[in-house]
Amino acid sequence: PTLIDQIAAGEVVERPASVVKELVENALDAGATRIEIVTAGGGKALIRVSDDGCGIPEDELALALRRHCTSKMAGGLDAIATLGFRGEALPSIGSVAHLTLRSRVKGAPAHEMVVEGGRMSGPRPTALGGGTMIEVRDLFQAVPARLKFLKSERAEAQAVTEVVRRIALAFPHVRFELAGEDRAETVLAAVDTSDRIARAAAVIGADFAENALPLDAEREGIRLTGWAGLPSFHRGTAAHQYAYVNGRPVRDRQILSAIRGAYGDLMVKDRHPVCVLFLDVDPRDVDVNVHPAKSDVRFRDPALVRGLVVGAIRRLMLDQGL
Ligand code: ADP
Ligand code: MG
Repeated sequence: PTLIDQIAAGEVVERPASVVKELVENALDAGATRIEIVTAGGGKALIRVSDDGCGIPEDELALALRRHCTSKMAGGLDAIATLGFRGEALPSIGSVAHLTLRSRVKGAPAHEMVVEGGRMSGPRPTALGGGTMIEVRDLFQAVPARLKFLKSERAEAQAVTEVVRRIALAFPHVRFELAGEDRAETVLAAVDTSDRIARAAAVIGADFAENALPLDAEREGIRLTGWAGLPSFHRGTAAHQYAYVNGRPVRDRQILSAIRGAYGDLMVKDRHPVCVLFLDVDPRDVDVNVHPAKSDVRFRDPALVRGLVVGAIRRLMLDQGL
């Protein structure tokens, strides 16, 4: 592996859950409607993501594993419509794990590439029904300094589940299956895009979905939809605050702070509001290229976004007489 790839891997690939996030994003970008994720040993021993997406043509397989090679930047940084765009994930993962990539485009035979110890081989013919399968084994085995920072298999398996649930909430029309010897199976059946609440029920819980208040507000071209939970449904952890910008799950401090601000006095001690916030913004008004993991965003007008979130949630609670 080149040193540059390993350094980049440090930013993109922190733990098994970050590998799963990148591979699932790639599957979604490929138009998949079924994504199957299998892990073993909390993802440290094995991560396998299979999809029914468009596949990768034989002559592009080697490119897909090369740094800064992306098929997705046709519109430039200003108009990113895909979850990926940096061309960093696969080479980064390949530099810190044993990676097998199998893919097949419609009407062509399947091919396979292998990256072992950073050395790439293939393409060679293989068997695959269609779409793409990426298998990642022995993550960080060759990088003990990173391996040391991973938590227990159980905790890493749980983090993988969280990542999948978080992404799945924004893609209700995609079927997700998460399985493995290290976990209880999770199946999220595909539902109609117009029935997002059904996916929210599957991910967060039927009780939340039945009682959540639907959000729908707009300010200066920024649209906010989703649901805000009543204080009686607040949970013991902040893990149930889901925020998305143009369908991309984000962990944004300003959005989380806006949620707290919105509930204000309704916040219950040691409890956290459950919220799902979908923000749809003109891609030119938000920068997603802040960090290689792409879960940080920078809004052109952060105050506008805060005002929109706080105002919309407050209004819902006021309507409830709270
Ligand atoms: P990025 O997603 O930023 O383009 P990646 O390193 O994640 O970079 O992937 C590199 C390229 O490999 C992608 O641009 C895409 O062309 C191809 N690719 C990766 N995963 C898949 C997949 N599951 N299905 C189809 N193409 C894929
Ligand atoms: Mg990608």
